[in-house]
Amino acid sequence: MSKFWSKTVKELTPYKPGEQIQAENLIKLNTNESPYGPSPKALEAIQNANDDALRLYPPPNSDQLKASLAKTYAVEPNQIFVGNGSDEVLAHIFLGLFKQSHPILFPDITYTFYPVYCSLYEIAYQKIPLNTSFQIQIDDYLAHPNNGGIIFPNPNAPTGLATPLSEIKRLLDTNTQSVVVIDEAYVDFGCESSVQLVNQFPNLIVTHSFSKSRALAGLRVGYAIASAELVEGLERVKNSFNSYPLGRLAQVGATAAVLDTEHLASTIQKIQNTREQLILDLSQLGFNTLTSEANFVFTTHVSKNAEDIYTELRKRNILIRYFNLPRINNYLRITVGTDAECAKLIAALKEILA
Ligand SMILES: *Cc1c(COP(=O)(O)O)cnc(C)c1O
Repeated sequence: MSKFWSKTVKELTPYKPGEQIQAENLIKLNTNESPYGPSPKALEAIQNANDDALRLYPPPNSDQLKASLAKTYAVEPNQIFVGNGSDEVLAHIFLGLFKQSHPILFPDITYTFYPVYCSLYEIAYQKIPLNTSFQIQIDDYLAHPNNGGIIFPNPNAPTGLATPLSEIKRLLDTNTQSVVVIDEAYVDFGCESSVQLVNQFPNLIVTHSFSKSRALAGLRVGYAIASAELVEGLERVKNSFNSYPLGRLAQVGATAAVLDTEHLASTIQKIQNTREQLILDLSQLGFNTLTSEANFVFTTHVSKNAEDIYTELRKRNILIRYFNLPRINNYLRITVGTDAECAKLIAALKEILA
């Protein structure tokens, strides 16, 4: 701690991402990356870039990328906001739309970056507990009509459980005076998207990521879909922060990835199949796993302590995620890998539980 730090910096508790270890033979199932590569067309577009792609500043408004996203989601280009990962998009949402006089609302068990943005931007928040089966209860949000905004992932992280679209619509029908953000980082793996509601509700923002289903975590691209007026607000924040959040390579790579819908569909199919097999295999070892609409599963063992399992797996070069947090400190989050990776995980678990 330095005396030169501002009060805000002194009080920050930064987000801790899952470990990124470079080790041989590591089975990495801890940060929900895709075990399959991105679209070959994305790599090709990046490789085909010329000198100018790096010598010149990139297009500041990522127009081509926005146009391809707008077409894919049947909205206007001015309803698309892009950023350096959906984390950056979320940061701009917190500053631009959530800094209000009332506290914002999010689940007690959810993406742990939300409270970090609140501390960075000095935004008050209230956690709304999930029910005992870890589901989001919309009525609990409707019980707080004076909120500064509402945000939750769908499917939720780290539980993997989805909230039905009808419930989100019920929230939007009543909660009309603050912004509602549905963080759809994992939506492609199974749950119904709220994008179809953006033209009906001017206070709805849906955020997506290229990091999970499109296997481009290293490229850092995310986007939001919303009414033009909300996007305009976010553009004001972005243009007061960094005019060029996406390099040209990110723009061309992401644009090619959006157009390759076949690659996306086949990746999702493989991950869904492996996920269901993994849940079955885990159940035979005495794990209770929540239904998952994501590319990870959230599981607890009937007798063996979760942290011990995590530690034992780590010794065997298998990395999963353990959160030492209230209510979930006996659960493990496991990213769905390839069939071979999941088979090795199951073999290691058999050994640990023997
Ligand atoms: C991974 C993740 C993000 C961030 O994704 P990036 O696009 O890589 O920044 C946002 N929200 C949730 C819930 C996530 O799990």
